[in-house]
Amino acid sequence: MTPVAHFAGAFATARRLSALFALALLLAGCAAPTTRRADLDDALVREEAARQREIALSSQVEAQGRLSRVAYPLITAAVPFCGDKTTATLGVSFINRDSFTKEFRDAGVKLLGVGEAPRAIFLVPEGPAARAGMAEGDVLLQVAGRDAPTGEGAGKALGKLLDEALEPGVPAVFKVRRDGAERLLDVTPDAGCDSPVALVGGDAVNAYADGENVFVTRGMLRFVDSDRELALVIAHEIAHNAMLHVESQRRNAMFGSIFDILAAVYGVNTSGLFGNLAAQTYSKEFEAEADYIALYIMARAGVPADNAANFWRRMAAEHPSSIRGGLMASHPASPERFLAIEKTLEEIAAKRAAGRPLEPEYKPDAILRREPAADGPRTLNPSPR
Ligand SMILES: [Zn+2]
Repeated sequence: MTPVAHFAGAFATARRLSALFALALLLAGCAAPTTRRADLDDALVREEAARQREIALSSQVEAQGRLSRVAYPLITAAVPFCGDKTTATLGVSFINRDSFTKEFRDAGVKLLGVGEAPRAIFLVPEGPAARAGMAEGDVLLQVAGRDAPTGEGAGKALGKLLDEALEPGVPAVFKVRRDGAERLLDVTPDAGCDSPVALVGGDAVNAYADGENVFVTRGMLRFVDSDRELALVIAHEIAHNAMLHVESQRRNAMFGSIFDILAAVYGVNTSGLFGNLAAQTYSKEFEAEADYIALYIMARAGVPADNAANFWRRMAAEHPSSIRGGLMASHPASPERFLAIEKTLEEIAAKRAAGRPLEPEYKPDAILRREPAADGPRTLNPSPR
């Protein structure tokens, strides 16, 4: 910078500062608004607040319900990739009063009729609970002859009970109450990857996996143009968990426990959600692998993936900085991701046409990290060397 330019810059800064200072003085002189507004009745404000909490809760319930529905076939189809991180899955969740924060408890009671006993919610239409005749709102009384826990701490206790009582493929009797009448339902759980998919707040177009869970932001739900694109995002995160990317990364060294698919490239601020996340989270290779495995999970789930690559063209429109790659970037750039998805879809289509199993291609020198599943593909450590 030349001295002149430097001086000009300093001058401009000084002038802007003094202008701001003058504005501050002006504001100080007339700090109060001058218009007369309607007096608001405190009782009405409280009433409106309660109404808005119901609206907010209802919207969250709808969003989580969508996530659960889209995730279900992926979580069950991904089992061969998940090694021993699988669980008996029902395609339903249970909540009671205790599931809500104090602020939203009244809204939960009013909107969903929850009380002390667990109630069915987020029912997946093709899941085991629905197949056995369970309906949303059913009150859970017993599982396999054991009373369902109620009241405070019921959520945790019920999780433990279900873990102990259920096994994939083995029918269990669920006693529920609906409209005052008790019913016995024979529920045969599916096997699924133990990777619950949960909604998190925030406008950032984002999704994360922490090795055990998958998180999707409301911003991402708004961004995806269809359940098909949402499936691509969820399958990508399930793949991170299934392929032990978090563990690999931890072993390789240094960083926070939660990563996200977009923050590093797009500079999305996630600090409001999970504190200061390490931006440098997954390597390009792991990101590319998660995209690759995601398409195999979708194919095995029977979820159509044609046009799924378009997600990355729309992402490029939203965040043009994603188009530029480079050696320093931690994530593959959007053009690479678009083309790699198209190529993988061709690979899968060719296997389908030839009647070959939908098994990903592994490097010949890949190190086996998990015992191969009897009827599925091997889960390997890609290349953390
Ligand atoms: Zn990722």
